[in-house]
Amino acid sequence: MRTLAIDGGTPVRAGRPLPSPMEPSGRTIGPEEEAAVLRVLRSGMLSSVWGTEVNALTEEFAALIGTRYAVACSSGTAAIHLAVAAVDPEPGDEIIVPPISDMGSVTPIIAQNAVPVFADVDPVTGNLDPDAVAALIGPRTRAVVAVHLFGKPAPVARLRELTDRAGIMLIEDCAQAYLAPTRHGGPLVGTVGQLGCFSLQQYKHITTGDGGLVTTDDPELALRLRRFADKGWPRETGERAYLSYALNYRMTELVGAVAREQLRKLPGVVSRRRASAAEFAARVAGLPGLVLPPDDGDHVYWYLPLLVDGLDHGGLVRYAEALTAEGVLSLSGYLARPLYAEPVLRKPLTYGASGYPLAGRDYPDGLCPVAEDLVYRRLVVVPWNENFTDADVDDIVAAVTKVHTALVAS
Ligand SMILES: *Cc1c(COP(=O)(O)O)cnc(C)c1O
Repeated sequence: MRTLAIDGGTPVRAGRPLPSPMEPSGRTIGPEEEAAVLRVLRSGMLSSVWGTEVNALTEEFAALIGTRYAVACSSGTAAIHLAVAAVDPEPGDEIIVPPISDMGSVTPIIAQNAVPVFADVDPVTGNLDPDAVAALIGPRTRAVVAVHLFGKPAPVARLRELTDRAGIMLIEDCAQAYLAPTRHGGPLVGTVGQLGCFSLQQYKHITTGDGGLVTTDDPELALRLRRFADKGWPRETGERAYLSYALNYRMTELVGAVAREQLRKLPGVVSRRRASAAEFAARVAGLPGLVLPPDDGDHVYWYLPLLVDGLDHGGLVRYAEALTAEGVLSLSGYLARPLYAEPVLRKPLTYGASGYPLAGRDYPDGLCPVAEDLVYRRLVVVPWNENFTDADVDDIVAAVTKVHTALVAS
């Protein structure tokens, strides 16, 4: 067997990094975005309050996703904050979230003085387990945030049944899952819950550096989203009044114009990611002890998750380090720990020394055992990219085969 690069062997791929979202080679930013930026600069109008670009973006985005409205904002975290503010929980109310996500799915809940309650996840997809959610819905639950992890849709049809029965709202966090269909040929993620949240951060399928969008079919929710991002101004009447508690989360025209060009490229980005991931999946299918996520034509591969059997935490960390040393950047667990084990929630570090609204809440180890098993012992993620060539996929297959054979299946 060939010596692993991590042990001093020759890497599968040396000196030629794979396309990454940190480089032009791993992004789709070109002359169209350059022209868009110049168009806005030359117009002299950089604010979306009076400009046309962000307005056009929200119409184009709503049409693409299939909702009546979209509202733009400054980040994916801001998008979740808009959604939670639109739900309008009472202080101390609860919102159910999964423990494997970006912290941006969670901290906006605390910003609105509500309490995140963590439900365990499916052992293969890492998405919310509807039975775990059902068991946690109580008199103070106001919403569920379903994250479509790595680009695989969460079971939102079932979750929507649960939330409707309880008279609460479903927020979809679609930051990793642009254009993912919730069932074959069916509605896209972001249309099943009352609110869908998207991010344009550097690492996502499309980017403006930072930026966010929220989709909804409900005119009243759309109004609340817009007001919360715009200091409570009723722009639709022109009245000079601050009608609600709100912040300034507005997207600028420069960002909006770039987002419009990125949006045109999104279908191509998704289909290229799907094609290369399918090729990869077919070629590693025979490796014993390796499971890939099920793909019913619905996975849009933000990251490609590998589920590895039979390792302890140290073994999992070494597996990801070994892949990285072969030239295929990868991360063990996706997160260092489930979100509830982070200091901000455990200590908690919220408002002064009060711990509000988490004081007295316990987020112990073992809270979500399936999520802990994934993060600590089973999950390795490879950031996927629309610009992977056939030769790149060859190298990723070779690296995974080499590392897996050496560390798991030998
Ligand atoms: C990236 C991300 C966010 C936060 O988006 P930002 O634009 O980075 O604030 C929220 N949820 C998920 C699932 C994400 O991947």
